Amino acid sequence: MRKRRSKVKRARNDTTYKARGLEKKKRERKTKAPKTRNMQTMSESEFWSFIRSALRNRTRFWKPRLEALKRARRVYNGPNKRQKWEFKCAICGNHFKQTQVEVNHIIPAGSLKSKEDLPSFVENLFCEVDNLEVVCKTCHKEHHKKQENVLQ
Ligand SMILES: [Zn+2]
Ligand SMILES: [Zn+2]
Repeated sequence: MRKRRSKVKRARNDTTYKARGLEKKKRERKTKAPKTRNMQTMSESEFWSFIRSALRNRTRFWKPRLEALKRARRVYNGPNKRQKWEFKCAICGNHFKQTQVEVNHIIPAGSLKSKEDLPSFVENLFCEVDNLEVVCKTCHKEHHKKQENVLQ
């Protein structure tokens, strides 16, 4: 009985020890990235994610993107009186309303984690219409999940 109890105790201590170790690691990771950008308010990775989203915002009215949407659409004849168009997903082939589709880059824009990534990121992001396809949100998510697995 006594033996058993001590085993349980040790096991519990082991987990607390491990948990503490993880917490310490987390804290170290957090404090390690120095705030080097934007008046010492942004780490390097926060800065690049800021630039990434700024550039992505500018693709909203990029003509090839609008053209890709135009090419994938057809007149909607369903029951919703307010819906004028529906858009064909290039992967599953079904039709969706505009809020349910996204434009995918066939050659992906890639990562933007440093200034070395910038030329290829800009070049791929602001591409012509032949590199773009309209996909539904579900297929889009699946598509990038698969791509990640390929990269790993
Ligand atoms: Zn789809
Ligand atoms: Zn995509």
